[in-house]
Amino acid sequence: MNAAVEVTELHYRYHDGTEALRGVSFRVAPGECVALLGPNGSGKSTLLLHLNGILPDEPAADGAIRILGESITRENLEAIRRRVGLLFQDPDDQLFCPTVQEDVAFGPEQLGLNESEIGERVRVALAKAGLPDFGHRATHHLSHGEKRRVCLAGVLACEPAVLVLDEPTSDLDPRGRRELKAVLREIPATKLIATHDLELAVEMCSRAIVLDRGRIVADGPTVELLDDEALMLAHGLERPHILRHVHPH
Ligand code: ADP
Repeated sequence: MNAAVEVTELHYRYHDGTEALRGVSFRVAPGECVALLGPNGSGKSTLLLHLNGILPDEPAADGAIRILGESITRENLEAIRRRVGLLFQDPDDQLFCPTVQEDVAFGPEQLGLNESEIGERVRVALAKAGLPDFGHRATHHLSHGEKRRVCLAGVLACEPAVLVLDEPTSDLDPRGRRELKAVLREIPATKLIATHDLELAVEMCSRAIVLDRGRIVADGPTVELLDDEALMLAHGLERPHILRHVHPH
């Protein structure tokens, strides 16, 4: 069976010479939910931007990234973007329509669905994202947490097979965090979640990958990795409280 995501020896250097990824390899099976952990600047966002072809500027087509078995090329870039929904770290980078309805409808419109199908996708996605009555609202007047949920609705409306989330809970309040987790649990897509929210990682992801300085330094069961204090400290992370009461030291 094809992996949902397969990354092989991925390297990436920004134009200014910064080497952000230095030979990253991993596979994610269909239906898996994997946490991507690592300190700031370790390459998490850079990696995620590769998974739907936003980086590199020109698809490399060297097989370093395969989505559901397919390498990303210029020809299939659009098809890949339909399969891989990416939730950006900053919702302001993602929202660009005046109203919530238009923004969430944008993806389904690109899929060539008819008007009633688009309307239904938008309605269902907004309900899943916890914003059932927000269609008419102006996107630029929303709170940060609401914007984030509109972005999520926009991604969900495309029904992607692979969902890639960059820090989905950063600056959400506890209730927003709880609600987002509940939404994510209901979504059957394969998920890769870059996060500093280690509780989210423990609760949602049975497996974690730890990146540091553009390399994978650990890949295994989330609880096992997070419980390894030496590993956590060596890579700018810490053992989450949620594990402390399990094994008090
Ligand atoms: P993370 O998401 O783990 O915080 P990033 O992928 O954002 O890490 O960054 C990885 C490295 O690439 C860092 O050294 C960062 O400074 C650098 N970087 C990120 N974006 C750019 C850019 N547009 N131009 C140059 N360097 C960048």
